[in-house]
Amino acid sequence: MESNEWRFPLYIDNTIMKDWRRCPQYFMRRHCQGLQVNENELSIDLHFGAAFAKGIETGRKEFFWNCASSSMAAEAGIEAALKAYGNRMPPPKSAKTRDNLIDAICGYFRQWPLDEDNLVPVENGVEYEFKVTLPVLHPITDKFLVYCGRMDMLARDRDTGAIVVVDEKTASRFTDSWFSKWDMDTQLTGYLYVASAFGTDDLPPQGQIRGIGISNLGPTFVRTAIHRTKHAIDLWWMQLVRDLKEMRNAFKDLVNMESNFAYRMGESCYTYQRPCEYTRLCTSPNPDAFLDQYEVRFWNPVNRSK
Ligand code: SF4
Repeated sequence: MESNEWRFPLYIDNTIMKDWRRCPQYFMRRHCQGLQVNENELSIDLHFGAAFAKGIETGRKEFFWNCASSSMAAEAGIEAALKAYGNRMPPPKSAKTRDNLIDAICGYFRQWPLDEDNLVPVENGVEYEFKVTLPVLHPITDKFLVYCGRMDMLARDRDTGAIVVVDEKTASRFTDSWFSKWDMDTQLTGYLYVASAFGTDDLPPQGQIRGIGISNLGPTFVRTAIHRTKHAIDLWWMQLVRDLKEMRNAFKDLVNMESNFAYRMGESCYTYQRPCEYTRLCTSPNPDAFLDQYEVRFWNPVNRSK
């Protein structure tokens, strides 16, 4: 691979920031070099979660934008989810199956019926997209970097008038740690930073996570409220800018690309119950020999192509 094929992302999202914080070497391989594993090597949990999200998005758009009945919208959601799931074969005993996907979508729209939900999307609020200019320059173009993202739903509470960011999360089960892990979650803090433009001092925006438990015993549903103080949002912004400057410097100062990005060895190398997909590169004295085991596809948070 020639050096002029290395890139630095113009659009920064929470996925990119998480990858950098997980391990700068991981960020470099995925976002500067664009190395991606084959689709079938991707986590079944991520694959299932993406298909579920597609189903909910489609159901909401059919109901709120195309005036379909709630039952027709739910059916359209199931169809879209199954199409996104495709022919992927889940590992033995995995609960992330096509049948459980159908149950999860049906169950979701029973738990939060489209025609009774007190949270109603604002204009363009289904899969609400945002872009925020950042005070950090791109290391090649010298243009300002842009922070962007897409919320599952930016809604208004029909009862209170409050702006509410809704985010769906699939999980295997709901432990105490599941409920407390959102307190410092950067994705949600970024969403609430953006949503603050719609809120007021008297009625600041809130978040609501809707958890969908996926098991072979059938889906379960929980919800939890998310709040952020001004201090928490300011802290998130400060750290975002600080990390981006470090990221930019690592890229700019490179002489030998691989050696300029730290290897965060240890727990970062095994997350979500699986080894990091770049382990074979980090453990070899000649990583270039393994590059043909990857496809080159750059993650683009604006059009979500990988
Ligand atoms: S294997 Fe470990 S050190 Fe190498 S890229 Fe992955 S997380 Fe980083």
